Amino acid sequence: AVVTCVPLLCFARVTHGMPDPGQRDLLMLEEAFMQTGGRVALTETEQKLDAHLHQLKEKEMSAALFPPAMHFFKAKPLIQRSPIFRLLQKMPKAALHIHSSALVSVEWLVKNVTYRPHCYICFTWDNSVRFLFSDRQPFPRWDCFYWQLLETLRAKLGDPTGFDNLIQRLTLFTEDPDGEYPNQDVVWQKFEKAFIAAAGLITHAPVLRDYLYRGLVELMLDNVMYLELRSGLSRTYELDGTIHEKVWSLKTFQEVTKRFMSDHPDFLGARIIISVNALSVSEVKAAIKEAIQLQKDFPDVVAGFDMVGREDSGRTLWYFREALSLPADLSVTLPYFFHAGETDEGTDVDQNILDALLFNTTRIGHGYALAHHPLAKAISRKRDVAVELCPISNQVLKLVSDLRNHPAAVLMSEGHPMVISSDDPSLFGTTGLSYDFYEAFTGIGGLKANLGTLKELAVNSIYSSLPAHLKDTGYAMWQNKWNVFVLDHL
Ligand SMILES: [Zn+2]
Repeated sequence: AVVTCVPLLCFARVTHGMPDPGQRDLLMLEEAFMQTGGRVALTETEQKLDAHLHQLKEKEMSAALFPPAMHFFKAKPLIQRSPIFRLLQKMPKAALHIHSSALVSVEWLVKNVTYRPHCYICFTWDNSVRFLFSDRQPFPRWDCFYWQLLETLRAKLGDPTGFDNLIQRLTLFTEDPDGEYPNQDVVWQKFEKAFIAAAGLITHAPVLRDYLYRGLVELMLDNVMYLELRSGLSRTYELDGTIHEKVWSLKTFQEVTKRFMSDHPDFLGARIIISVNALSVSEVKAAIKEAIQLQKDFPDVVAGFDMVGREDSGRTLWYFREALSLPADLSVTLPYFFHAGETDEGTDVDQNILDALLFNTTRIGHGYALAHHPLAKAISRKRDVAVELCPISNQVLKLVSDLRNHPAAVLMSEGHPMVISSDDPSLFGTTGLSYDFYEAFTGIGGLKANLGTLKELAVNSIYSSLPAHLKDTGYAMWQNKWNVFVLDHL
């Protein structure tokens, strides 16, 4: 028989009686070496911070209420009080999985955008809202019969703050998440409705410009230095009803990013992953052709392509294989960043992870099901395809309730390539990445995740994503910021 063994496993022979304590120590060391960040050699200063972090962690993990074990909507105020969370906010990092329609906090949308002139609101039969900016009374639509000017409505109600709270229902937030969202279908319904409700605000051309800038500000406040934003590049509209095509949104994104970078020289940049929520092969084919063209015209802005939407109710990647092989057929490169394995059902879509890899995906969005696919796991590890772990999203959308049981715990203990992101921050009531980092670091990583883990996760996000010409300068900038971060927290 062929005998294969990982280095120290050979020593773990069956013994009788008292096991050898030396061998036990070696095995534990070997295992610690395997986890995310296990091979990161910490400097002396970093070791000091690591020891401090370990103490903080022990304290928080032994408290009566441990946030990762609770629903995020209930855990959020506790996390805000955590010194670990405040430290994570200062850590330099990059965001690689955020959707453009959920980028900016709803608070900003309500307090800033809905107070602008010419903003109309309509309450729909299904208890949702629509917004529209218009220089005249909007015509009734199939989903909206009666439009009211918000300014007038607010004046009539006489309690503007109470009204603002109502509009904040644009998020998924509720005080009773388990009661209000008994299953995945219900929460996804509300999730999709919230996107539609916000669309009328965000796709107003002048708002989009400010919205994108504000999005970068919120990320920068959380020390995010680089962004890859998934966006369908919606068409936008002006007050008089003029419509701009997708390319306008892309140009606006480019302009805003440039302006933001000249205002904030230590921000590294932002790129778009063009994403489509499509139903038919021909729709996906058209979207891919368009993405190829946009990437040719805006090589610095377009990072690649993705398919979005609820995997469990949608088609499999394999169903779209003819469309997805178009770039190869045309001998062009269009990097893929597929959402895959955002499921716990073991159905057809469960194979999306393997198919994403067969289509040479650059990263895997979520990869919640990856731990159940040993072969796909081995391939993604070999090719260094990072999983984009978004813990709060997985919890709110009901894949897992206690984050200590998230399958990524296995991936982290094996050192699987990984980055942390926030998916739809505005809908979950987060900004930046630190809430998700907190859940991943304390809940999923457990006590054994350390400063080396954080360093590796942050380096992964910076180094794996930047375009070739930015890699070295970007990394050097990150390293400087990291050094300051470590010194500041001793
Ligand atoms: Zn996503």
